[in-house]
Amino acid sequence: MSDRPEPKRIQALTPLVASQIAAGEVVERPSSVVKELVENSIDAGSTRITLEIEQGGIELIRVTDDGSGIDPADLPLAIAPHATSKVTSAEDLDRIATLGFRGEALASISSVSRLSIRTRTRTQSAATLLECEADVAQPARPSSGPEGTSISVRNLFFNTPARRKFLKSVPTEQERCVDVMRAVALAHPAIGFKVVCDSRVSFEMPADQSPKERVLSMLGKELAPQMLEASADQFDDARGVTLWGMVGLPAIARGTNKSQFIFINGRPVRDRTIQHAVLEAYRGLIEPGRFPTIVLMIDMSPSGVDVNVHPAKAEVRFRDSGLVHSVVYHAIKRTLQAADLTPSISFTPTNRPLDRDMAQLPGSGLAPPPPMNPAQVASFFERNNVINTQGARPGFDVDQVRQALATSAAQQGSSEPTALPTIVPTTKILQIHKSYIVTQDDQGIVIIDQHALHERVMFEYLLERVLRGPLQSQHLLTPAVVPASARQLELLPELQELFARLGIEAEPIGPFSLGVRSFPAFLFERRVEPIEFLTAIFEKAENAQFISNLKSGGEEAMRDVLDMMSCKAAVKAGDRMTDVELAELLALRESVERSSNCPHGRPTSVRITIRDLEKLFHRA
Ligand code: ADP
Ligand code: MG
Repeated sequence: MSDRPEPKRIQALTPLVASQIAAGEVVERPSSVVKELVENSIDAGSTRITLEIEQGGIELIRVTDDGSGIDPADLPLAIAPHATSKVTSAEDLDRIATLGFRGEALASISSVSRLSIRTRTRTQSAATLLECEADVAQPARPSSGPEGTSISVRNLFFNTPARRKFLKSVPTEQERCVDVMRAVALAHPAIGFKVVCDSRVSFEMPADQSPKERVLSMLGKELAPQMLEASADQFDDARGVTLWGMVGLPAIARGTNKSQFIFINGRPVRDRTIQHAVLEAYRGLIEPGRFPTIVLMIDMSPSGVDVNVHPAKAEVRFRDSGLVHSVVYHAIKRTLQAADLTPSISFTPTNRPLDRDMAQLPGSGLAPPPPMNPAQVASFFERNNVINTQGARPGFDVDQVRQALATSAAQQGSSEPTALPTIVPTTKILQIHKSYIVTQDDQGIVIIDQHALHERVMFEYLLERVLRGPLQSQHLLTPAVVPASARQLELLPELQELFARLGIEAEPIGPFSLGVRSFPAFLFERRVEPIEFLTAIFEKAENAQFISNLKSGGEEAMRDVLDMMSCKAAVKAGDRMTDVELAELLALRESVERSSNCPHGRPTSVRITIRDLEKLFHRA
């Protein structure tokens, strides 16, 4: 049988085709050209960089800098593939300190465009101009021009129509170019930037800004009161990883991750480890699906991070990603913990309706979180009728709570006096429409959602408590019978460990029912029905994610269940509370971490400051 095909002959690609293929990796669209050119300008030690683009960069991209310039003798090499001034040996690749290192950007760009380089070094009396079209360079010739380098890229992909077709609309390509510049400008506050799109200035940043000034001028000065400064210098075991950043309050979290800027050694990156650490640090403070506004500059020895793993260098690989995770997580978490996160309602003279994005925070102290005041907790639990609106017995074991909260306060590790606002102790407390609690602190009026706050307080208690062993369990004289499907009963073995930690004893007592013999005392006392609670757990268990969470340690699943327990056990909107209950709930607010938001991330409290009132009444 010889319908076997003849082997195809192998031939070396022409240099142009080879470069065009290589260009496919680096030069995807105008914004990738912008990134490469601007990074070259930064590597050349520039203090001012200007980008001009026309038609979204498809017609023209020009980057002009005042950096070192290129020696005329080296100019032909600048556009040759694999020629670079930044790396000479393989060992250099383990400690890359420049943004560029592959020596292929200009070669790739020149193969798919009309490129010209005008450059002049400090020692040269005139500039040199090199023009090049699709890889074919004219001889370099003298020209006039200032010190520094100006590189123009015209008619991108003019000779590769297939690639040109993949470009998006002019406004989209333009926006991507500007996004690149935004990230670069954030990472290099000492350099001045100007970005001009079709002769219109898109943004301009002066040179020599401090990192903080740069972040605020890029993100918008009006965000200043809502951004906290975070740093990780003071942290114990950062082992050479340093972090500085600006961290947005939960109130300015957004529906997209476009206001998240993360840099490793000055390089913008996307990194799942870091993103995860950020979201963990905000856990419980923002609602799911929202993203904090955040700028993080993480620096470490170049040998701790491999930047040579992605064609556009947008991803990196860490030698110790656990360390990076922990530094990011702790830096943000401590910053948030130390801040007053209760949003203030800000009123404008036109009195626009309340809006979450208008929420504004007055000068946020960077003091450590308030230490727990044992007297507050004790008084809360001394009485029998703790926030108990339905005449049942108290929901907490006094000693357990005291111990749990003391542990948590000790972990926060501070007993210094705090600058955070606290509820003024002898103040009147008002319950409004059986749903909201109104009181004052030293900054103004505080309005609290009674259910959300109670839920948060109970969640924190349960979380601390469950880490120390199974919850106290209440034996039921007659088992509660919970209807369950055959499929749900099959899940029972997977749930047993969770049940044990919660103090639930349950077994099938028929093909479609579960008998519950013991139930968490806490829920029992809060009059949560076993049927209602177990049905809710089964509903969760039918989600594969929940079961897989259980299998991998169960922490996520446990939080999920505690969250549901606190929600069911908390006072509801519509429950009347006595003065004592109100006072005690507020006392607990002071001692619980993250009391500003309920476990789902919704705020528990808002504030109207005295300043707001003065404005409202035209006294200011
Ligand atoms: P790489 O940046 O990886 O070295 P490039 O192809 O981007 O590779 O650039 C090739 C070389 O051209 C650089 O190593 C640098 O010496 C020189 N060069 C490019 N742009 C500039 C610039 N704006 N100023 C000074 N030198 C530059
Ligand atoms: Mg480069």
